[in-house]
Amino acid sequence: MSKPFFALLVFLLALPSASHAWNAAGHRQIAALAWEVMTPVARRQATALLRQHPDYARWRERQQENDPDYGVFLEASIWADDIRGDRRFYDEGKGVPTPRLPGFPDMRRHGDWHYRDRGGGEIDARLARLAHDLVFGTRAAKIYALPWLLHLTGDIHQPLHTGGRNDRGGNRFYVRAPSVKRKKRQTLHGYWDNLPGPSGLRGAALARRLAFLRRLPPPSSAEAVGDIRRWLEESRALIAREVYPKKHDAILDASFHRRAQYRADLRLRAAGQRLGHWLNYLL
Ligand SMILES: [Zn+2]
Repeated sequence: MSKPFFALLVFLLALPSASHAWNAAGHRQIAALAWEVMTPVARRQATALLRQHPDYARWRERQQENDPDYGVFLEASIWADDIRGDRRFYDEGKGVPTPRLPGFPDMRRHGDWHYRDRGGGEIDARLARLAHDLVFGTRAAKIYALPWLLHLTGDIHQPLHTGGRNDRGGNRFYVRAPSVKRKKRQTLHGYWDNLPGPSGLRGAALARRLAFLRRLPPPSSAEAVGDIRRWLEESRALIAREVYPKKHDAILDASFHRRAQYRADLRLRAAGQRLGHWLNYLL
């Protein structure tokens, strides 16, 4: 192996692994809260679009709810993260383009759609585009847009997907959380992603968690619908105020952890509520 290549490889391996935003449990909770405020018409439209998606059968198999339409809606919200490990898709600039699925505009993983910070990303512009497609696009464009919109509305409410302290959205800021086994070192970004609970949360355990979230104060209706800029700015204000502990490598104390958990819960609650109202308007 040539020296420069080896150096590059070491550098790449040392990069923090790409962040996924709220884990699967977080996205399911947001989608579930959205479903609760959706009108029967919006639910029917969403279900009809998801049934025509090439991955409908996978979602159907994975879901564990009594109402499969609801269960599929929850699983579809995680699709944008699932394709990161899916060999039918490829990374721009790295992988070789793969054959297109029927109706898809391309097979890119679009990692830069999930965030927006000083270094790049386009979550806000992309959300606006997807909303437009959901109303005015062809049938195929709508089918492609819906799972993305479900996902990115969640991501934009995760503060560290909208910036950080020049540390790739907290991916280079390390903390030790007392709640995690052996106080293992982890990134601040990962800590926030996992506040919604274990990734596999479904069925009865998910329902218990939703009952808790429902009791939290909802965002006022005035701020609930389609205001992408505002969602982004709220997330950024949280970064400035309360997302970071005082010190790098700090063991997070109980009061920090309680505050972060409460803040994350409020963001999930707001994202769900807003997504639901937005879909009522778009569908
Ligand atoms: Zn994401």
